Amino acid sequence: MPTLEEAKKKIEQLVVSKGFGNTKSEIPNKLLFAFIELGEASDAWKKAKPKEEIIEELIDVIFYIIDASRLIYPEANLDDFFDKKYIKNMSRPYRYGEQFRDSS
Ligand SMILES: [Mg+2]
Repeated sequence: MPTLEEAKKKIEQLVVSKGFGNTKSEIPNKLLFAFIELGEASDAWKKAKPKEEIIEELIDVIFYIIDASRLIYPEANLDDFFDKKYIKNMSRPYRYGEQFRDSS
């Protein structure tokens, strides 16, 4: 299983070899495409499409997010940031302290 940093390198190779945009000016498009792929994932799930199809759309979301991330801050180590954010979230209270009212 690749780390996020390995995935970042693979995605860069994919983008370059397939001739997709590889400049900071492409960042808004990449983020927009992530939303579009999220919509495709939601649609596939609602239509009870096969597992492979739903997961593939979710992976497309991850591809675009990692692609945008590497263009925004190429030097940021995504594995380190993932771990930091995970620890931060795990240190928060149950349901992050939100109070839930029952719906009655
Ligand atoms: Mg897709």
